Amino acid sequence: MVTITALDTFDVRFPTSIDHDGSDAMNPDPDYSAAYVVMRTDSPDGLSGYGLVFTIGRGNDVQTAALAALEPRVIGRRVEDIVERLGDFARQLNGDSQLRWLGPEKGVMHMAIGAVINAAWDLAARRAGKPLWRFIADMTPEQIVDQVDFRYLTDALTPHRALEILRAAEPHKKLRIAQLEAEGYPAYTTSPGWLGYTDEKMQRLARQAVDDGFRTIKLKVGLHLEDDIRRCRLARATVGPDIAIAVDANQRWDVGSAIEWLKPLESVGLAWVEEPTSPDDVLGHAAIRRAVAPTPISTGEHGQNRVLFKQLLQAGAVDLIQIDAARVGGVNENLAILLLAAHFGVRVFPHAGGVGLCELVQHLAMADFVAITGKKEDRAIEFVDHLHEHFVDPVRIVKGRYVAPTAPGFSAQMHPASIRDHLYPDGIVWQGVAMAADR
Ligand SMILES: [Mg+2]
Repeated sequence: MVTITALDTFDVRFPTSIDHDGSDAMNPDPDYSAAYVVMRTDSPDGLSGYGLVFTIGRGNDVQTAALAALEPRVIGRRVEDIVERLGDFARQLNGDSQLRWLGPEKGVMHMAIGAVINAAWDLAARRAGKPLWRFIADMTPEQIVDQVDFRYLTDALTPHRALEILRAAEPHKKLRIAQLEAEGYPAYTTSPGWLGYTDEKMQRLARQAVDDGFRTIKLKVGLHLEDDIRRCRLARATVGPDIAIAVDANQRWDVGSAIEWLKPLESVGLAWVEEPTSPDDVLGHAAIRRAVAPTPISTGEHGQNRVLFKQLLQAGAVDLIQIDAARVGGVNENLAILLLAAHFGVRVFPHAGGVGLCELVQHLAMADFVAITGKKEDRAIEFVDHLHEHFVDPVRIVKGRYVAPTAPGFSAQMHPASIRDHLYPDGIVWQGVAMAADR
């Protein structure tokens, strides 16, 4: 019998704000950070599960406390009970009524629960000797449906309808796995587009992105309209007419100002507009979408749970959605969101970047391709070329595409030396460096 012996939490931070990496209209000086969690066991082979919550700095103070609050729910439990019934495990963590009161199913506590659930999936996939995408793809439709909490969803998506979607995919799985392993999964890049970059740096990186094989780039917008018009036109002139350009306002606008702001950008030919306004404003997104059509509208990286995604889809508020591996309640809730998107026929462009988000979310997109939608060429996973060197199984991008991971697990494990050096505030990289907010 193997038992969970510890839930270790580490406050890992990177001083990314020094070079404005990750800067956007709402987040001018992020220090990319991970509240990193290790679910340890007494298995003789050292089996552990790894997960993280991505924050942009001081959020780690709060997240590490939230993760610590979950220790009593996990320590001492049998590994077999958890990995063989991951749906029950997720429901139990989400169902702790005293902690649920803080949400329900949203915010700090929900993100911490998501990280622990993801660590359990990592552990399960490692134990099975499979990368997570394959671990999910090899489940039966019934097993996948068992992972999902359909509470609050059945007016839009029933277990019966989810089974239909999954069963339709079943005969094609083998071929799709072979396709995925041979072709990879399309990526798009945000590396050129950070708001703190000069025009020259943006153009150089945009040119580089096209040379590297990316077919879509994304620019941050929303601070000054004249700058956005100039940067978008410069980007279009740099990459030519065949490369898609998306923009991301990171929740900057009210509904009216979003509509006004987007009119002069129309001529650039935008692939989508991401997070035009508050992530909670379902009807606001719908109003913006109607007003700026046919420019596609998108949101979701800050979508707090499956209920919000249900409403966005029911209201016809978005043309496409972002999922985020470390925002909602782990793999289980993301499976719910992927099934909702499949049911409504809305494309998913997973959010990534930060610390480890590319490593994590690639597995969900690939599982979606094999076991749910069978689609990948009409969508793409975000890619940002930062901080991958800190991961034991980093993403691999070849010619603008994610290569399907082969190592067992969820790719969230970090190198021990990276954790040690970036521990806040005592790690060596923080000696003599103040966090952005304190400079
Ligand atoms: Mg975004």
